[in-house]
Amino acid sequence: MVNIDNYNFKGLKALIRVDFNVPMDKDFNVTDDSRIQAAIPTIKKVLADGGAVILMTHFGRPKSGPEDKYSTKHLIPTLSKLLGMPIKHAPNCIDAEAVLACGTLEMGEVLMLENTRFNPEEEEGDKVFSEELSQLGDVYINDAFGTAHRAHASTAVIASYFDVGEKMFGYCMQGEVSAAEKVMKDAERPFTAILGGAKVSDKILIIENLLNVANNIIIGGGMAYTFFKAMGGNIGSSLCEMDKLDLANSLIKKAKAKNVHIYLPVDSIIADKFDANANTKVSDNMHIEDGWMGLDIGEKAVKEFCDVIANSKTILWNGPMGVFEMDKFSNGTKQIALAIADATSKGTYSLIGGGDSVAAIHKFNLADKVSYVSTGGGAMLEFFEGKELPGIKAIRG
Ligand code: AMP
Repeated sequence: MVNIDNYNFKGLKALIRVDFNVPMDKDFNVTDDSRIQAAIPTIKKVLADGGAVILMTHFGRPKSGPEDKYSTKHLIPTLSKLLGMPIKHAPNCIDAEAVLACGTLEMGEVLMLENTRFNPEEEEGDKVFSEELSQLGDVYINDAFGTAHRAHASTAVIASYFDVGEKMFGYCMQGEVSAAEKVMKDAERPFTAILGGAKVSDKILIIENLLNVANNIIIGGGMAYTFFKAMGGNIGSSLCEMDKLDLANSLIKKAKAKNVHIYLPVDSIIADKFDANANTKVSDNMHIEDGWMGLDIGEKAVKEFCDVIANSKTILWNGPMGVFEMDKFSNGTKQIALAIADATSKGTYSLIGGGDSVAAIHKFNLADKVSYVSTGGGAMLEFFEGKELPGIKAIRG
């Protein structure tokens, strides 16, 4: 497989699939440009070599065909500012206008194609559409890890129309894939996975797959209470998925058989209502009073979890330990984040993967104190589930 670092783009038009699906306010201002920033190193590499850049991305969820609010033209001011240069825009992906815009693009220029999802063929992974897209550039770069779990035209199928020597990962994709593989395929031991968040049902496949690779699995957040209920505990009105009790017991059994240590929080901060100003007290998790709910892990659990983290050489964290959005219930998540940062400073490899743990690590200003913070969302979760991602396979073969 070609490594982008060893490739010279001089005189070539690079077709780059990026993930610019960024949040925007009603006046079309990008409110978080981190996904655009993530693609800048790849774009700059092509330009610095003397090549030209053609960008493809989806943006929002257009229902059937073009919708002005989802036009990629709204992304241009932000991209232009970040790159410090003007950006051209083609009002479609594959029509005559797009072909002309790509054909007349000069080296050193950047062109943004219209939203790939304005064409239904994108999500259908249509071969004709993919081939037409592929003809717009000389080489294909996939820098969109966030959509690597989709077998869409511009994220996967298109790659089959380029030779092995003409397709590669961009820097963002490369970083995400190597972080995920370091943890899931090449972890230094002990390897501890920390899982939290609201529901067990969202994380079943991840837990099952982690039982094959982790030494320890820490389970916190709302999902922990289903396990206590399954063990016969009284969990008051804490979150619980009654239809997952058998599953929780079977995961505990499987972990024992595989010699994986599952850590559940021994205590919780419980509240008399789901409210930032609720009354609170500490409770052990097998005896939560009726009418009260666990909204954060307690001090004893924090201490035990932090000891496990301090003795780990690889850490994967997905999901908060409590309702960290409310200050009263953020301590558990914050202490875990601090413990991961501390372990990282002593040589442990730490990957923060997916959704709300990423939001938490930013909230506590610790993003630069861990080894890698994934931008991947759903793609990273599917990777943790052990699935082969179409966007990766399409490049690697
Ligand atoms: P997820 O998207 O499944 O990772 O869940 C994240 C959400 O779970 C966050 O919004 C947290 O507020 C919520 N959460 C974490 N712990 C609890 C809990 N003990 N009770 C209710 N919600 C929780």
